[in-house]
Amino acid sequence: MAVTRTFSIIKPDATRRNLTGAVTKTLEDAGLRVVASKRMQMTREQAEGFYAVHKDRPFFGELCDFMVSGPVVVQVLEGEDAVKRNRDIMGATNPADAAEGTIRKQFAESIEANTVHGSDSDENAAIEIAYFFDDAEIVG
Ligand code: ADP
Ligand code: MG
Repeated sequence: MAVTRTFSIIKPDATRRNLTGAVTKTLEDAGLRVVASKRMQMTREQAEGFYAVHKDRPFFGELCDFMVSGPVVVQVLEGEDAVKRNRDIMGATNPADAAEGTIRKQFAESIEANTVHGSDSDENAAIEIAYFFDDAEIVG
């Protein structure tokens, strides 16, 4: 299995509750390495662009409101089969459906305020990483 990269966001519900370290530790314990990381306040435009794939979903407006409601931590994660490894440790979108030990089971507040984002394919990982990071910010 090849070493690949994925894109992660620690969402505002988690930064608000001071869970940046706890979430990152869970990612690291799952075999992922943080090769880039920055805490930032997303603009509404950035949130709408990032979630453009969901723009016709009924929750789009509220999702964008939530993503700009406080700081986020955007990260590039590296590891063997990183996209799947991260999706596995994140757990299901709805924390009510998430497996024991997953980040969303442990920490998520709701289907919307669900603590983390993770890319769903290698192609989207590359797009999402480039949306928030310059190559020089990814330092291994
Ligand atoms: P995932 O983050 O697991 O890949 P999706 O890509 O389907 O899930 O959705 C993106 C984000 O939109 C979710 O992480 C969650 O914050 C929000 N979301 C998804 N479904 C709902 C819903 N039914 N109601 C409110 N927010 C939702
Ligand atoms: Mg998704």
